[in-house]
Amino acid sequence: MIYQGKAIRVQALGDGNAELTFDLQGESINKLSSAVILELEEAVKALQAQSDIQGLMISSAKDVFIVGADITEFHGIFGKDEDYLVEMNLKVHQLFNTIEDLPYPTVTAINGLALGGGCEMLLTTDFRVMAEGAKIGLPETKLGIIPGWGGCVRLPRLIGADNAIEWIAGGTENKAAAALKVGAVDAVVAPALLREAALDLLAEARAGKINWEAKRAEKKAPLRLNPVESMMVFETAKGFVAGKAGPHYPAPVEAIKAIQKGATAGREKAQEIEAKIFAKMAKTDVCFNLVGLFLSDQLIKKKASAYEKQVSAVKKAAVLGAGIMGGGVAYQSASKGTPIMMKDINEAALQLGLKEASKLLGKQVERKKITPAQMAEALGRIRPTLSYGDFADVELTVEAVVENPKIKAAVLAELEDKVAEDAIITSNTSTISITSLAENLKRPENFCGMHFFNPVHRMPLVEVIRGEKSSEKAIAATVTYAKQMGKTPIVVNDCPGFLVNRVLFPYFGGFIGLVEHGADFQKVDKVMEKFGWPMGPAYLLDVVGLDTAVHANDVMAEGFPDRMKRDEKTVLNIMYEAGRLGQKNATGFYKYEEDRKGKPKKVADESTYGLIEPLIKDKRELTDEQIIARMMVPLCLETVRCLEDGIVETAAEADMALIYGIGFPPFRGGALRYIDAMGVDAFVQLADSLADLGPLYHVTDKLREMAAQGKRFYA
Ligand code: NAD
Repeated sequence: MIYQGKAIRVQALGDGNAELTFDLQGESINKLSSAVILELEEAVKALQAQSDIQGLMISSAKDVFIVGADITEFHGIFGKDEDYLVEMNLKVHQLFNTIEDLPYPTVTAINGLALGGGCEMLLTTDFRVMAEGAKIGLPETKLGIIPGWGGCVRLPRLIGADNAIEWIAGGTENKAAAALKVGAVDAVVAPALLREAALDLLAEARAGKINWEAKRAEKKAPLRLNPVESMMVFETAKGFVAGKAGPHYPAPVEAIKAIQKGATAGREKAQEIEAKIFAKMAKTDVCFNLVGLFLSDQLIKKKASAYEKQVSAVKKAAVLGAGIMGGGVAYQSASKGTPIMMKDINEAALQLGLKEASKLLGKQVERKKITPAQMAEALGRIRPTLSYGDFADVELTVEAVVENPKIKAAVLAELEDKVAEDAIITSNTSTISITSLAENLKRPENFCGMHFFNPVHRMPLVEVIRGEKSSEKAIAATVTYAKQMGKTPIVVNDCPGFLVNRVLFPYFGGFIGLVEHGADFQKVDKVMEKFGWPMGPAYLLDVVGLDTAVHANDVMAEGFPDRMKRDEKTVLNIMYEAGRLGQKNATGFYKYEEDRKGKPKKVADESTYGLIEPLIKDKRELTDEQIIARMMVPLCLETVRCLEDGIVETAAEADMALIYGIGFPPFRGGALRYIDAMGVDAFVQLADSLADLGPLYHVTDKLREMAAQGKRFYA
C-alpha cells in the first residue's frame, strides 16, 4: 500500500501501474470535502515518492465516481473574503496540476456520477474511460458559482469552447454516449469491463502505441481561436445564455467570461482568471440562496425518506374526479409507473381526462423522452371507470371532485365503504379543513390531505396535510405515493389554506391594497416580475381563476378574520361579479387570445381600468421599492406566523414550499431567507413603517423579539 487514508488509498498493482481509489469511509458516495482534498495532497506526495511507477489509474470503490465538492461546507467557506477564496482555489489548482503533470500516463475509470469537482478531477488525467450509464457534468452554475477547480480551463481545451459552454452554462449532466461524441471521454464500456478497459488504455500508452505526451500537451495548451471565431463563439453565447438565464442568475454568463478570458492564456494564468471569477460569484447573495436551497432540498428528501421507510410502496392508486386536477393526478401516477383507477360520474369527463393524459404523453414521445411503446404502457396504467367495482384492492385514493364541502363529505363517506379497512384516503381540497372533512369518516386516522398544484405534471410540490386524527401511517403512505409520482412532498398541519394558500392570499391582500391606492395593476405585475416572480399578481389571479380566488379568499377571511376579512368589496369581487374569471373564460385583468400553438396569450385590456376606478380610495405615487414592500411584507409575515403556529416544522420547508408551490423567486431563497437577507431588524422596521395599511402588516411579538436579540431563521 502506497497510501491509506480515510477517503483515498493508493496501491501498486504489481505491473508498474498504481491505482488511486476514492472510497470515503462511512458514506455511500465520494465527495471532495476539505479533508478529502488534504488527503489527496498527501496521496499525491506519496505517489511522487515512488520511483518505480509507470502509469496511474484513478477509480472509485463506490457506485458513483465523485458527486462533487462537499456543498454542506459552502456557506462556511464562502463567508471568508475573496482573497481567501482565490488562494484556496489556487492551492487546489496546484494539486490538480501536479496530477496532470505526473511523469507517466494517467487514466480515470468513471462509474456512476462524476459531477462538479468530481468531473474536474477526472479532467486532470490523460485518458478517461466511462461506464455505460455513468454521467458527468459541471452543474456549478446552478448553485450561482462557476466551476472553480479547472473546469473552465480544461474542459474547453478538451472538447472545444462551444461544447464546454453548453455543458458549463447549462449545468447539464451528460450521458456516456454524449460525452464520447464530443471527446470528453476516450471510450465507453459496460460497467463490468471498466477497470479492464482503463488498464488496457494505460498499457497501450505505456507501450507507446498512443502518444500520451502529445495528448497531454494538447489538453494543456491554449485554445487556437482567431479573433473572428472567438467573437462568434463567446459573444453569441453570452447573448444567448444571458437571455435564457435572465438578469437574476449571473453565473452562466460569468462562466463563459472565465472560459473566454482564459482561452488564449497559459494553464496557470487561465486558472488564476477562473479563481478570481469564482470568488466573486461565491460572494453573491444569489449563490448564498441557491446553496441554501440545495441544503433545504436535502433536508426535505431526508424527511421524506424517513417516512418512506415506514411503509411499502403504493401498488394501486385511485383518483376520484377526472377534471383538471384528477386528470393530472392520473397522468402523473401512470407516467411514473403506479397504476391508477380514475373515477368520475361523468363519461365525458373521463374521456377528457384520458385525452389530456395522452396529449402529455404524446409530447414526451415527440421530445424523445419516452418511446411509443412506453406511452402505450403508461396509458394502460390508467383505468377509467364510472363505478367502484375494482376499488377493493386500491391502497391509496386521491379525492379530486368539485370544491364543495357537502359533495366532498358524501363522496368520501361513500368511498370509505368501498375500499379495504387499511386503505388510505386523501383529499386534494385547496381550502376545506382536513380535520372537518374527517368528521364524517369512520376511520379518520386513515385520512389526510394531498394538495397538488396546477398543472400537476409541472408543479413539483405536494402539500401533505395532517388533520387532527391523521395517523403517521396515513402521512407516510401519502408522502411515499407523492415520491413515487416524482413530486416533492412537504408535510404541514391543518389550517385554512394550509401553508401555501395561507401565505399566498395575504400577498394578494397586498395587491388589493395597492389597487385601492391607485397603483396600475400592469405596473405592479411588471415590478414583481422584475423582482423575480414568474408572473405578477394580477396575471397570477387570472391564471388561478377569479372564481377560485374569491372562494378561497372567503375561506381565508373566515379563518383569519382579524387580518384577512374585508367588509367592503375588493378588486377580486368586482372582477368576479363582472364575469371576468381570468384565463378560463379569456377575460380577467387581461384578455387572452390563442397564440400559434393554441396557448392563451395575455393582452392588455384597457376596460379593466374602468372597472377598478370606483375602488380607488386615494391615489398615491408609489415607487418600485414601495410596491415590492407592500407585496412582500404580508407574504413574509404570514410565513412567519405559519412557522410560529407550527403549521410547518422548519424554515427550510416553508421556503421550499413557496418556491415549489407558487414559484417564489428561487434566487431569493424563500420568504424567510428573504427576511434573513434583509436582516430581521430591518424587516421589522420596514413592516412597522407600513403598519397603517392594516393587520396584514403587523409584526408578531416573537419576530420583534428575534429582531431585538439579533436572531435569524437560518443559522
Ligand atoms: P374540475 O371541476 O375540473 O373537476 C371536478 C371533477 O369531479 C369533474 O370531472 C366532475 O365530473 C367530477 N365529480 C363530481 N362529483 C363527483 C363524484 N361524486 N365522483 C367522482 N367524480 C365527481 O375541478 P378541479 O379544478 O380538478 O378541482 C378538483 C379539486 O382539486 C377541488 O377540490 C379543488 O379545490 C382542488 N384543487 C384545484 C386546483 C386548481 O387549480 N384547479 C388546484 C389545487 C387543488
